[in-house]
Amino acid sequence: MGIDTRFRTLYLEKRILYPFRNNFKLIWYIRSLNRKHIMAGTEFYGAEERKEINDVLETGIFFRFNHDAQRNNIWKAREFEVEVSKLVGSKYAHAVSSGSTAVSCSLAAAGIGAGDEVIVPPFTYIASVEAVIFAGALPVFAEIDETLCLSAEGIKKAITPKTKAVLLVHMCGQMANMDEIMAVVKENNLILVEDAGQAMAASYKGVSTGLFGKTGCYSFDFFKIATAGEGGVMVTNDENAYKLADSFSDHGHDHQGNNRGMENHPVLGFNYRISELHAAIGLVQTRRVPMIREKNNLIKKRLMNELGAISGVSFATIPDPNGDSATFLNMFLPDTETAMKVVEEFNANGVSGFNYWFTNMYHFINQWNHIKNGNVAAKTNVQLLGAPQDYNNLEIPKTQETIGRLISFGIKATWTDAELTDLIAKMTKSIQSVLVQTA
Ligand SMILES: *Cc1c(COP(=O)(O)O)cnc(C)c1O
Repeated sequence: MGIDTRFRTLYLEKRILYPFRNNFKLIWYIRSLNRKHIMAGTEFYGAEERKEINDVLETGIFFRFNHDAQRNNIWKAREFEVEVSKLVGSKYAHAVSSGSTAVSCSLAAAGIGAGDEVIVPPFTYIASVEAVIFAGALPVFAEIDETLCLSAEGIKKAITPKTKAVLLVHMCGQMANMDEIMAVVKENNLILVEDAGQAMAASYKGVSTGLFGKTGCYSFDFFKIATAGEGGVMVTNDENAYKLADSFSDHGHDHQGNNRGMENHPVLGFNYRISELHAAIGLVQTRRVPMIREKNNLIKKRLMNELGAISGVSFATIPDPNGDSATFLNMFLPDTETAMKVVEEFNANGVSGFNYWFTNMYHFINQWNHIKNGNVAAKTNVQLLGAPQDYNNLEIPKTQETIGRLISFGIKATWTDAELTDLIAKMTKSIQSVLVQTA
C-alpha cells in the first residue's frame, strides 16, 4: 500500500471502524485484507514514484539508451544505477530487467560459461541455479549452515579440479560468513559471484553483500526490500566486468556515441535491458531503503528478544548483526518434526506471513524435481555433458536439518506496536503448545 493510500485507508478506517474501536480483532482483520504478504518496498510508494514516472511519460522515451535530443536530459536507468551505487558503495552498477537476468549478467561478466562447474547452494530462490544452467555451466550443490548460506566447509568439500566458481547466495536478508568463505575462495583460486537478490543493503564488516566477489547482483522484483515492479542490478568494482555486463545485457552494444545503428559490439549479448519506467520506480525505492532497513531492524530485534525467551526457539546465525537488512525473521525450532507442528499451529491460530521453505516454497532443492529429473524444454549442458553430481542422491544432511527446522517471517516495516504485540502473542501460544507436547 502506498503512503497516500495508507493515509486514506487509515482515515476511512477511523470513520467506519470508530464504533468498533474496542474490537481489536475486527480492526486487525480489516487491515490485514489490504496488507497480506506484501512487504518492504511495496509498503511504501506514492507521490515520488508518480513524479519520476511522469518525467518519463512527458518525454515519451521509455528506452534507456540514445534519443538524446528528445529525452530532455531524463535518464532514469542511469539515475537508478547511481542510487544503487551510492547505497551499497560499489564503483559500478548496471540495471537490467530482473534479478534473474542480473545473475546471468554477473556470471557472464565474471567469465563463467559452458562446462564450468559452479558451486551453488541447495537453498536459494531457484533463479540462481537456473542462471548457472542457462549460462551453459554445471551446478554443484554444497552444504549450507545456520547462516542459511553456503558454508566455507561446505564449499571446500564440493571443490573438484573442474570447479571454476562459487555462486554465493545471501539468503533471507542476512549475509554469509565472509571471512571464512573468502579464505577458501582465495586458497583455491576460485571466482566468487554473489547473488544478493534478497540481501541488498545487508553488509558484512562494512562491505555490502554483492561486493566481495568479482560481480554481484540484487533483485527489484515485487517481493524485495525495494521494487521496480520488475528489475535487477548487477554491481562490481571491476571496470572490465562492468563493461562486459553493459554490453552483454544489450546485444553486445558498446554504448559509445549517439547513433545506435553505428555502435560497435565487442561481445555477443542478448536483451536484458530495463525500461525507463521500471527504473523510475526503482530509483525512488532505492532511496527509501535505509529507512526501511532501520524500521525492519527495530522490529526484528523486538521479535528476537521476545520470541527468543521461549526455550526451544533460536535464530539463524547473523555473521554481522550490524549488517542485517532484516527483511526476514529466521527462526529455528529444535527439529523438523517440531517445526512442522508449529507450522500447523500457526495456521490453526491465524498466524500468517511466514514461509516454511522445507516443504512449501520454491526455494529448496527437495522441490526441484525438474532439475533432478532433467525436465527441460530444450537440452542444456547438464544433459549434454552429464550432471557433475547425482542430483537425486545428494548428501546434504546439514542442509536438510537446517532448513527442516527453519521458519521465516517476512518483516513488514509498517507493522504497528499493537500488531506486533498481537503477532508475538499468537506465535508464542502456538510455539509453546507444541513444545509442551513434545517436552
Ligand atoms: C528474487 C531472487 C532472484 C530473482 O530475482 P527476480 O527479480 O525475481 O528475477 C534471484 N536470486 C535470489 C536469491 C532471489 O531472492
